[in-house]
Amino acid sequence: MNARKDAFFRRQTAIHEAGHVTAAEHLGAKNVSSRVWHSPRRRWDGVARVPDITKMNDRERHVIGAAGGIAVLISYGIRIPTTRPFSFFLLKETSALFSKTDWPLIGYTREGRSLKMKLGTDFTAIDRDIAFTETLLKREWNKVLSTARQIIVASRSESDFRRAA
Ligand SMILES: [Zn+2]
Repeated sequence: MNARKDAFFRRQTAIHEAGHVTAAEHLGAKNVSSRVWHSPRRRWDGVARVPDITKMNDRERHVIGAAGGIAVLISYGIRIPTTRPFSFFLLKETSALFSKTDWPLIGYTREGRSLKMKLGTDFTAIDRDIAFTETLLKREWNKVLSTARQIIVASRSESDFRRAA
């Protein structure tokens, strides 16, 4: 892969993780950490660890789970439509921007390639929480960007370390 494409995917992955971090910290989560690494199969992979996730309520989980993909959508200038139930269709269309571990937090399940709704899913609640996530991340956009930058810098020194070892 050429260097420009590689940098593009690294930035996208870092913005995704920075979205999780920003939302989680906004909701009071402590000791949140994140990193991205080069993965031969998926180009770039990342993780955001939120140790307090087990203490959070459904609403907070929806927000933290959605924040990764929503941050990427914001970075592309994509607005979340306000017609209901917008979140399911939007997330279905853009499901590549969300990861396997994001779905159960958001309240949807993914079977194979298709996104499924859980029986009894409260769409109104998820829509409201997705809209809240968008508003929150837009307001905290400088923090998303500075966190993404830190994640990228850390990934560079890590690969330098590996090269030197
Ligand atoms: Zn994620």
